[in-house]
Amino acid sequence: QKELLGWKLENSYATLPESFYTRLKPEPVPSPQMVMLNNALAADIGLNPEELESQEGIQVLAGNQIPEGATPVAQAYAGHQFGHFTRLGDGRAVLLGEQITPEGKRVDLQLKGSGQTPYSRKGDGRAALGPMLREYIISEAMHGLGIPTTRSLAVVSTGEPVFREHRLAGGILCRVAASHIRVGTFEYVAKWDTKEHLRQLAEYTYHRHYAGLESVENPYLSLLKQVVNSQAALIAKWQLTGFVHGVMNTDNMAISGETIDYGPCAFMDTYHSSTVFSSIDYYGRYAYGNQPTMAGWNLARFAETLLPLLDPDEKKALEVAQEVLAQYPVLFRQYWLDGFRNKLGIETGSPQDIKLVEDLLQLMEKNQMDFTNTFRNLTLNIAKEEANIGITPGEKKEEFNQWLQRWRRRIAHQRIPLPQIATKMKESNPSVIPRNYWVEKALEAVVTQQDFTLMESLLEALKNPYAYTEDQEKYAQSPPPFDKPYKTYCGT
Ligand code: AMP
Ligand code: MG
Ligand code: MG
Repeated sequence: QKELLGWKLENSYATLPESFYTRLKPEPVPSPQMVMLNNALAADIGLNPEELESQEGIQVLAGNQIPEGATPVAQAYAGHQFGHFTRLGDGRAVLLGEQITPEGKRVDLQLKGSGQTPYSRKGDGRAALGPMLREYIISEAMHGLGIPTTRSLAVVSTGEPVFREHRLAGGILCRVAASHIRVGTFEYVAKWDTKEHLRQLAEYTYHRHYAGLESVENPYLSLLKQVVNSQAALIAKWQLTGFVHGVMNTDNMAISGETIDYGPCAFMDTYHSSTVFSSIDYYGRYAYGNQPTMAGWNLARFAETLLPLLDPDEKKALEVAQEVLAQYPVLFRQYWLDGFRNKLGIETGSPQDIKLVEDLLQLMEKNQMDFTNTFRNLTLNIAKEEANIGITPGEKKEEFNQWLQRWRRRIAHQRIPLPQIATKMKESNPSVIPRNYWVEKALEAVVTQQDFTLMESLLEALKNPYAYTEDQEKYAQSPPPFDKPYKTYCGT
């Protein structure tokens, strides 16, 4: 039984220099209603789901009422958007405060879609209900998959329309995050604030996310190392599940190592390294296969902001930063390879494994195979003699069978019973991911008919994607092909 303490809010971020944020309240909305509530997450962070669902709870989740202890602020930040540096900030979000959980953890509670702020530029500060529910589904799916991520506590409708290409219902998401400190937060302070404030931000950040650095010789360099490591681990997990973030601007990279900002993201069905879903990513900058490189690029921007703290000697600072950055591709590659070894049931590494993985990916691309289901089928059929691994029979069948033989020999070499390997493989190969086909269907039912049946059942299946239950079967099938390539949109 969890201790439900109710709101236990602080705002340590609001004790940082005033230039980092603007104090303000969310803009009220006319008639908020609860649309989705994450009961389990509420309890995890010490909140009573029944209280959240009460009139008062809904008023808080809509931004109409400020809970006790909250010091709402909109955070300032900057960012490289598709390579171009700009001043940004919470243009449609307010950080209510930090909830102290029953375990003593500190998590941000942020309302997204809460109205205009000084950082809104020309935007209306609002969000449409559909995209907030989409973030709810995808972020909870990521959590189920074991990928570090911000979470979704609740979505309320506002009773107020938002105007995009069409008139849409408005919504507000309550997002739970380790923090909302981004690479872009550091870029903002490094560019427009003092060195002393930069030091304060760095110290605050490592206290909050990388405890233990207080006592090391150069904590700023260690902070850089830790962030490089957590991003290498995170991006590897994206690659291993076919997740395409879609808008890896530096303002959308969290220093905590969590996946943040679910806008145009989507999971790949058919494997192709140049997969892009975002309607505005014309050049494929953030394509699936580019994600590791782009994360490296973002980390270089982060390292630049830290230079003044790394060493009083500029040349030396640059040198040590470059040394740490050089480790990023090495770390990424290791996480990536270890992950694929797990997916293929390989327990002890051999140097030939890289080739085995790369050849498989190449065959998947050539044969337009479903990424998730290729591994799912290998898992389910490993013990069968003539494994149907879901490849469409055709000209490449022979080539694929040769790969299968190689893999089988590699596995047999380990002298571990096949059923045991299959059980292990299940832990790394989800049987279900939030496929675009089902996500769209579920959202449509909610937004147009207030029918939650599909959304609830999809969320249930995504809770434990490694369970291989019968209820998940329906969501595991490769989707019927879309008429047009699947497109996603930012900022709706
Ligand atoms: P994103 O592409 O989601 O990372 O957002 C980039 C920037 O645009 C952030 O500063 C957001 O706060 C801001 N933004 C996005 N949508 C809106 C909106 N409807 N109104 C005001 N600002 C927005
Ligand atoms: Mg963003
Ligand atoms: Mg966004």
